[in-house]
Amino acid sequence: MKLNRRRFLETGLVVSGVGLTKTVGAQDEDHYRPGGPWAPNEQAINYNGYLTNDELGKRLQQIDKRSDRIALEQIGASAGRGDPIWEVTVGDGNENVHIINQIHGDEPTGAAAMVKILQTLANGSAPAIETILDNLTITIIPRVNPDGANFVGDDGVGTDGELRQRRQNTTEWTEGDSRYINANSYGHGLEVPGYDLNRSFSIDPDYTPFDEPEEWWSVRDEEANLAALNMPVDEVPLEPEDGMPYDELWNVGLNINPETQAVTKSFLEADPDWAITHHHQNATIDPESAAQGGPEWQSIMSVMAPFGPTYAGLDGVDYRSYVGEGNPFLSVDTQTRSLQLSGLVADQMEQFGRGRFNTITRYGYGPLWGSYLDSLCPQTDAAGALYEVSHQSDSRGHKARGTMVKVTVEGIMATFERIADGSIHDVDEMTYFDLPLSEGIENPHDNR
Ligand SMILES: [Zn+2]
Repeated sequence: MKLNRRRFLETGLVVSGVGLTKTVGAQDEDHYRPGGPWAPNEQAINYNGYLTNDELGKRLQQIDKRSDRIALEQIGASAGRGDPIWEVTVGDGNENVHIINQIHGDEPTGAAAMVKILQTLANGSAPAIETILDNLTITIIPRVNPDGANFVGDDGVGTDGELRQRRQNTTEWTEGDSRYINANSYGHGLEVPGYDLNRSFSIDPDYTPFDEPEEWWSVRDEEANLAALNMPVDEVPLEPEDGMPYDELWNVGLNINPETQAVTKSFLEADPDWAITHHHQNATIDPESAAQGGPEWQSIMSVMAPFGPTYAGLDGVDYRSYVGEGNPFLSVDTQTRSLQLSGLVADQMEQFGRGRFNTITRYGYGPLWGSYLDSLCPQTDAAGALYEVSHQSDSRGHKARGTMVKVTVEGIMATFERIADGSIHDVDEMTYFDLPLSEGIENPHDNR
């Protein structure tokens, strides 16, 4: 498939993640494994294997039709394309799990992993599956951002152009949507504007634009009408659970997109005890992987747990957080469970031995008040986890996508099993802080 490179570069590449970036020169390419040598550039971009919105809908409907364990519901429509946002529910246990995928449209492997997981839960007969279905009620949104996942044509909503993916949706801000354009979530410089939906949730689920006083806004650019919304802590409709180090919350989202509204409603109805969100990050290495000699391995996935002042205040831990106090609206018990939720993923990958899969790293944490985890987890006291599989959808070919799907399926299925049998509570939560912080490396194919 021919790619419009110029347009893709303008709209597609957004660096996610914190941490260091080190440059890999051509002579160093063989130094890294298993990604080195990198997939040849001509194989690097291939959207053929990703499910379009129509294909995803058909797959989910097939699974639903063939199994009485599955409930499929359309819970909304995307802002630009009007494509369905699907929610799948499975199991009827007392522990509630909520999972969202592909809130960034160019981070597609979560949706593919969910299709596999749903097939297993819909049809599997292993005792472990029965234990999961008896003990958990699982709510999955396979694709939060159909606009970004299925961006076609000049305006993103066409049908005759070439398919490509991008991070944002395609909501264009118009007068009356909000007092100002939210500088932290709106891609106003894009050829086709839109919102980063994982900066667009509100810590107040009933937030209504213009109800807020003018002075909550801190104006960044008068001419462009850009400002950031900072909410005084006293006005947040939540009780602090672990002290309160802040006077106000910065960069609060507005919840004015149909996608975040659908997810928020789904979340509150599911009333989850556990919440997971799936993403992609740029290429990273496991910095401890060369300890026994030999070259460093790339990290297959980083995990991140939201936590608050209690864990942020412990001595001797390298957090490398950009904000040291974390999220004080999470109870200490919830923070502990969040750390266990991420820690168990590394546990699970140890079965594969040293190599491609056993390279789980830690993603630096700081609260993003417009994000799914930091704004919604406190609403129901849900423990949270962020999965960040390595490589964006534009940077690898088929083979790498298979490993990204596999590590996601392994992590999520192990999570289900360990919540269902209660053994998640045996995970030493401090193992999370033993995970090495991921270090970014530069993909030589990004220098184009
Ligand atoms: Zn993401």
